[in-house]
Amino acid sequence: MKSKILWLNLKTGLILFVLFCPIVFSCQVSNESRNEDKTTDKVVAVPNFNADSAYNFVQEQVDIGPRIPNTKEHDAAGDKIIGRLTAYGAKVKVQAFEATTYDGVTLALRNIMASYNPEAKKRILLATHWDTRPWASKDKEDPQAKFDGANDGASGVGVLLEIARQLHGTTLPDVGVDLLFFDGEDWGQENGGNADSWCLGSQYWAKNKGNYSAYYGILLDMVGGKNAQFPYEGISRQMAKKILTKVWTQASEIGYSRYFIPRKEGAITDDYYYVNTIAKIPMIDILHWEPNAGYFGDWHHSRKDNMKIIDKNTLKAVGQTLLHVVYYQD
Ligand SMILES: [Zn+2]
Repeated sequence: MKSKILWLNLKTGLILFVLFCPIVFSCQVSNESRNEDKTTDKVVAVPNFNADSAYNFVQEQVDIGPRIPNTKEHDAAGDKIIGRLTAYGAKVKVQAFEATTYDGVTLALRNIMASYNPEAKKRILLATHWDTRPWASKDKEDPQAKFDGANDGASGVGVLLEIARQLHGTTLPDVGVDLLFFDGEDWGQENGGNADSWCLGSQYWAKNKGNYSAYYGILLDMVGGKNAQFPYEGISRQMAKKILTKVWTQASEIGYSRYFIPRKEGAITDDYYYVNTIAKIPMIDILHWEPNAGYFGDWHHSRKDNMKIIDKNTLKAVGQTLLHVVYYQD
């Protein structure tokens, strides 16, 4: 993804400057890992996230082609996600709507939600976006080119589809789990444009979610990059600090502190911003951060965002952490 980056001076609360830029199988039966819950002494069976499977889900999205709204590839990719979620036993709801882009194009979009334990009152929301930006706008050689969006879009889809497959194959956690795939995230205006031109799907969902609510949410965006690091992003710290700490602590406890870095970084407008501010559901962002690159590497919104930069180890770190988070609820 990305819409805009706001670098915040946290001591003064002043915005120093605003940098606009645009914005994770081999289907094997999983083995469950058993873990001692230190707080209750109960033994919880947490599914074993299969990184090969997640990787294949990423590849599947990429193989369909760029998931650019109003194209047959976009339709096919959405249908594929719905088909897999249905096959994995979820209650699936599709929110179809139209939205107009900053450059005047009316898009036919679909937000897709898959629910497990639909009757449970306490719910955890896991989200990502599934569309692809229509142009490789930061590609130095051809900014009009289409690109694969392997990390920016497909990686989050891969992780959530593997979580769906795992939830289908084992005892569900006590909480309800909703997997939400936002559409229309990446058709935004760069270089100082309107921040609200991004994240069309999450904005629509937040305004039209009915009586849906969740205990908290976790957004995934670009979660498959090799040697990825995920920092303490600014808006997450401001709006859902407890959840941020909880997830990073869980990641560290199961050996993924190399990926989940408790380092304070600036704030980014992404889908979770609208879930926090409009839907009023506290939500954090697990988002790729590249040291000395202003959050993103040179693959961002370029044709370098392809399967070559996707690493199964990163997909595993994110997916296993999320499974532990939902199975160890206090
Ligand atoms: Zn993007």
